[in-house]
This record gives sequence, structure tokens and C-alpha cells, in this order.
Amino acid sequence: MRTHARLFIDGAWVDATGGGYTDIYDPTNGEIDAKLTHAGKQDLAAAVAASQAGFRVWRATSAFERYKILRTAARLMRERTPQIAVQMTREQGKPLREAQVEMALSADLLDWFAEEGRRTYGRVIPSRAQHVSQVVTREPVGPVAAFTPWNFPISQAIRKIGPALAAGCSMVIKPPEETPGTTGALADIFHDAGVPAGVLNFVYGVPSEISEYLISHPAIRKVSFTGSVTVGKHIAALAGIHMKRCTMELGGHAPAFVFDDADIDAAVKLMTFSKYRNSGQVCVSPTRFLVQAGVYDEFRQKFVKEATRLRVGNGAHPDTTMGPLISARRLHAVQELINDAVERGATLELGGSRIGNAGNFLEPAVLSDVTPAMRIMNEEPFGPVALMRSFETLDEVIEEGNRLPYGLASYAFTRSAATAARLSSELEVGMLSINHLGLGLPETPFGGVKDSGYGSEGGTEAIESYLVTKFVSHATA
Ligand code: NAD
Repeated sequence: MRTHARLFIDGAWVDATGGGYTDIYDPTNGEIDAKLTHAGKQDLAAAVAASQAGFRVWRATSAFERYKILRTAARLMRERTPQIAVQMTREQGKPLREAQVEMALSADLLDWFAEEGRRTYGRVIPSRAQHVSQVVTREPVGPVAAFTPWNFPISQAIRKIGPALAAGCSMVIKPPEETPGTTGALADIFHDAGVPAGVLNFVYGVPSEISEYLISHPAIRKVSFTGSVTVGKHIAALAGIHMKRCTMELGGHAPAFVFDDADIDAAVKLMTFSKYRNSGQVCVSPTRFLVQAGVYDEFRQKFVKEATRLRVGNGAHPDTTMGPLISARRLHAVQELINDAVERGATLELGGSRIGNAGNFLEPAVLSDVTPAMRIMNEEPFGPVALMRSFETLDEVIEEGNRLPYGLASYAFTRSAATAARLSSELEVGMLSINHLGLGLPETPFGGVKDSGYGSEGGTEAIESYLVTKFVSHATA
């Protein structure tokens, strides 16, 4: 059994002194694969102190120098992809090919953020008086506390580390307990690329203890969290008490609209791929398939046929196209939601049963005739389940699309420019992709509205949240 006994503080791996540990389970067989030892208060204090010292060094490093170091880190990510992707599949379960794609996207993200760090422009405002200069500058907000999720152990961490470091901030990050080896590889990458000691620190332990310590610490100036709405609200409240800026990337329950005039074959292909990617454990996963009555049967049948072709198994096997869920807890949660829907009258068109009795394997599922009375139509399933129901009119389906407190991603398939325009203007979401899969690129905004959170982790917006504005008015005579 492996032991992850180390924290990365002030540029070195050090032993955790908290005393406790968390068991890490292998998602393919449910057995304990490793032990994760916990940081104690003195470790957290050391990490914050390192991030303060690191911040002083890093903010004084030129944007151009930071850019070069981060580009080097992106290169190292590409070079180390073979080992890290294998580790990601082992810890998280996704098929190796998906892990490799995540690595490639993450390196691209880092390149983008590195570049953006060179463009944190200020401005000069014409003054009302002679001999007065009015200058606006953008400065790094300070040391950041970041909490990243297990579903994309590298890319979701890079969506925080990239813009923070590019802006000149330092960071104490609590990576997910489930994937310490994978996310921990980033500590070595940034260190080897030349990021100074103290700029990036990794701590593991009891999540609530770590967040309470870090968020209330006066040295920490910004909080960034990706995870569930429940935990996100708790963390945002804590940040509010301490007047810390916040970025929240939380859950979703994405509606996918398929209209009578859509290219049904294209919609089926793209939506099955997107639904079952990473076993549905994706915040932007399409979940509520709202299909116009004229094509409902055709879409449903073709979707089920396509989903039947998925090969569920150990992600390390080359023919696997869908791996296990992350944990036994998640497996049971998804099954409970499916059972509740069936009890309330949904039709189970496909799958939904556990595969074998070891590991967290679930058959890809399709439920039709779902209604808003079912839990699964209100709670994020975060698993390989597609929900389908038909609709008649655009007004009716926009209402359903906006019904939930979530507002992250949405998808639509239509050949009508008028329909696309109404969806674009009336949906309460952070992202909408029409007739293709176009979300999550480095240069495009990534984030939600309503309970799905606030702030963006892509595009030019991402770096904004790590900057503060300073205005200097200077009478020169
Ligand atoms: P969870 O809410 O139990 O935990 C999610 C993460 O939050 C974990 O990494 C955990 O360490 C951390 N966490 C929990 N309590 C914390 C605290 N008090 N302070 C700091 N961190 C804390 O969720 P789960 O059951 O592991 O995952 C399923 C849910 O998580 C899904 O419903 C989904 O909404 C959400 N999720 C969302 C994303 C995303 O990309 N938005 C990613 C992963 C998980």
C-alpha cells in the first residue's frame, strides 16, 4: 500500500504532522490503495507563511519572467503526460485516453494563462486639472486558498493555479483527497519549471479544518473552490465573513434541447459522448434531454443504441470507454436517484445496475418519461444517467430549462436561427453550446450563474478574479 505522507510547503516535500489519515480507495475494486496523512495546524501555518513570502518574491518577478516559467511548466506537463495519465486513471478511474486528453487540454490552458499574464493592462484617465496624472493599475490580489475537485484532478487545478500564478499571486491548494498522486505531480512540475519556493503549496487533510483555517487567516486574500453547491455555499459564507474575494465553480444540471428541425444523428453522437464522458462526473455534463415531440422517439431510440456500445471497465484497459465512478458513496447516490425515478413512474430504457460486486462500475443508464416530481430531475446526478422527456413548444421548454436553481451549461440542437437566438437570450446559464460541443476551451469563459456559482475559470475573465484595481492620482506640480 502506498502512503502519501507528504505536503509540499516552501518548495519541498515535508512530512504531515497532523496525526490522522484518510484511506484512499481503488475505484476499480473498492480496496484501500493508499493512506493520505493529514496536515496539522502547524503545517497549515507553515504553508500560509510560505505563501506570504512566496507572494513577495513572485509579485516582484516580471510578468515576462512569470510567463516564461509557466510556459516551461506547460512543456513539462506535456513531457510527463505518459506517467501522470496512468496515475490519473488509477486514482480517478477515467479511461487512459480521457486522462491523456485532460493532460493535453491542461497544458493548453496553462499556455493561455501564461500569455494572459502579460496583458494585465491598466489605464490612464485624463484628469480635470493640469499637472495631475490619474493612473489605474492591476495588481495581484495576494495569497490564494484553492480547493480543487477529483473529477478532473489536473485540469480543474490548472484552471486555478494558471491564472493565479500568471497574475502574480501565490497559492495554498488543497487538492482532492481522492487523487493525491495525480494532482501532487503538479507540485514537482511547477517547482522544476522554476516557480520560486513558497509560491505554490499543497496541503492535504480534513477538508473542513483546512478551509476554516485558510479562509479565516488574514494573509489569505482570495478563495477559489470547485465542487458541490452545498460545500460551495458553506465556503462562500465563510469567505464572506472574512471579506475574502471568491470564485465558485459549482454543480450543474445541464438541459440539452433537441428540436424537430435538428440533425438528430449529430445530436445523438455528440450528446452520448458528452453524457458518458468521465462516467457523467462532469459539471457541464448534459443531463436533462428535452426533446421536441416530433423527434422524441427517434432521438431516444438512437441515443439508447449508441449508449449500448459503451464498454465499461477498468480505465487502464485499452478497449474501455467508460470507467468506474469515483467512490462507493457516489455509486449508491446515483443508484438511489435512479430507483426513486423508477418508483415515481420513469421508464428505465437502459442500464442503471451495478456491474459486478467489486469496484464502482455502473451500467450507463437512460431514463425516459421523467417528470419534475422526481429527485433526479432536481438534484445533480453526477453520474452516467441521461434523463429524457418530450416537449411541444419553445416557451414551455425554456421554462423547464430555467426551472432549477442551477445555471451552468446548456446545449441545443436546432437549424432555426430564431430558436437559437431565443435560447441564447433567455436561458439563465453561464454557457450554451449550439449544434456542437464548444465549451471549455482555454480562451473562452468557463463558469455559471445562480447556484452554479460565480466567477469564470477560462478566457480573459479568469485572470481578472486574481487582480485588484489600484487608482493613483498624482499632482506633479
Ligand atoms: P462533496 O460535496 O462531498 O465534496 C466535494 C469536494 O469538496 C471534495 O473534494 C471535498 O474535499 C471538498 N470539501 C468538502 N467539504 C469541504 C469543506 N468544508 N471545506 C473545503 N472543502 C470541502 O461532493 P462529492 O460527493 O465528493 O462529489 C459529488 C458532488 O460534487 C457532485 O454533486 C457535484 O456537484 C460536485 N462536484 C462538482 C464539480 C465541478 O466541477 N463543479 C467537481 C466535482 C464534484
